[in-house]
Amino acid sequence: MALGGLEEVGRNMTLLEYNNEIIIIDMGLQFPEEDMPGIDYIIPNTAYLENKTEWIKGVIITHGHMDHIGAVPHIIGKIGNPPMFMGKLTAGLVRKRCEEYRQCPKLNIREIDETKRLKLGKSFDIEFLRVNHSIPDSFAVIIHTPLGTVIHTGDFKIDYSPVNDRPADINRIARLGGTGILLMMADSTDSTHPGYQKSESSIGDEIDKIFEQLSGRIIIGTFASQLSRIQKIFDLAKKHGRKIYLQGRSMNNNVEIAHQIGYLKFHPSILLRDADLSRLPDRKIVVLGTGAQGENNAFLVRVVNGDHKTIRLKKGDTVIFSSSVIPGNERSIQNLKDMVVRQGARIIHYEMMDVHAGGHAKQEDLKLMMRLLKPKYYMPIEGSHYMLTAHADLAQQVGIPEDNIFIADNGQVLEFIKRGNIAVAELTKEKVTTDYVMVDGLGVGDVSNIVLRDRRVMAEDGMIVAIATIDSKTGEPIGNPDIISRGFVYMKENRELIESTRMKVKQIVKSHDPRTPADDDYIKNKIRNEIGQYLFSKTKRRPMVLPVVIKV
Ligand SMILES: [Zn+2]
Repeated sequence: MALGGLEEVGRNMTLLEYNNEIIIIDMGLQFPEEDMPGIDYIIPNTAYLENKTEWIKGVIITHGHMDHIGAVPHIIGKIGNPPMFMGKLTAGLVRKRCEEYRQCPKLNIREIDETKRLKLGKSFDIEFLRVNHSIPDSFAVIIHTPLGTVIHTGDFKIDYSPVNDRPADINRIARLGGTGILLMMADSTDSTHPGYQKSESSIGDEIDKIFEQLSGRIIIGTFASQLSRIQKIFDLAKKHGRKIYLQGRSMNNNVEIAHQIGYLKFHPSILLRDADLSRLPDRKIVVLGTGAQGENNAFLVRVVNGDHKTIRLKKGDTVIFSSSVIPGNERSIQNLKDMVVRQGARIIHYEMMDVHAGGHAKQEDLKLMMRLLKPKYYMPIEGSHYMLTAHADLAQQVGIPEDNIFIADNGQVLEFIKRGNIAVAELTKEKVTTDYVMVDGLGVGDVSNIVLRDRRVMAEDGMIVAIATIDSKTGEPIGNPDIISRGFVYMKENRELIESTRMKVKQIVKSHDPRTPADDDYIKNKIRNEIGQYLFSKTKRRPMVLPVVIKV
């Protein structure tokens, strides 16, 4: 089952269970939807695991992206801090992520690569297959179980000439296919995109041309995790005699980790300090930062908002957006681009000049993987329902029977039962809890759907507070009620409405049942309902009505 990643892009976490033993693959986060105001991100719901910590034999992390590692600090302690297995770079990123959270226990990480084989519990015999992606050290997981071999691809693409990484071993993939694969679970992110994914090394030439033509500052926004791209930019900066001004906390962290373990190669003198920025001519400067998705607080957004300590955009600057648009971010990116252009800079986006190679297998790559591995059963993972369905169509095209392809929802259990000598799969009706666990600031899971609904109401129509003071013995109102509006109407320009609302509240309090003079719950409900209706009749808006009754 997958606790996340089957109904969205992100929150990836897959479970394999056999005879009271469980292994987990990935623990990612999901960025919030637009209708989740204030939410930082969402993590997988681990209710199913919480009384089974004894069963958990290990956690495997396929690669270092947030949608695969982001929930580790929140979850790992709750499930008994089991041993974790991942590549060297991923280990660096996971350790760094955990440092930021006090509740994260000391992690028990073992580094792996494609030469390692490990046994988890009695039932799981595990190997790793190096794959290519937009970050080095990405692995597919091969799990030999008593019922057959399962392959989980993680995020992958097929790149015959990757940058700073080794290509996937196609020969070994084909050999694995020859041994008989029971189930293949594969990355659906680009399953709606026809054709083949580009090689990361073909990208360098395009950016090289851009560097050659420009004489002003070059400002590049990309993902901090796109280390192959970052390496290319370091190389080109060196070639063209530019220095790099590195911006954004995650960018600095990732570059530091990757440089320390030798995955990013550059001489430290290429990095520009704050003090040297104004001394260098523009044609010698590359600014490399985060924020090409329009994320709040990221480097590029702070620059265009005028909040950045050293960088202001000016004529002659070129801003390169070097990452594809994550679905859902279109509007923030458009706003960001408008602001960049207004401030006099030029924009180059990957759509205009092909400065982007994605990190995910496109349709033809997925088909190649299916042909090589020849799985009996197929399960698309890592994508929205639409992407999973498109992916399933591809599987049918290469001849996997429709009945052997499973499009599951989060938490839905895919079960394998041994019939005679063969394992037969069935997508069951059983579904474990996968309700959203939302992270807001330091709170994990304390923002419920009710809190979220209140936030949405307040965001839509604002709120109004009605404060009434009553005599605790008689229930009679004392003085006139107070009305406060926030986000509903501007009070100074709506005196009449506020005044009539005030009188309405007074009436409601006055008309109380004399036998229960001090039942303030009753009075509050009455104010909430009647004032709500009254304001709707006057304004066709539904602000949140917050009654406060003070007894003296
Ligand atoms: Zn990824």
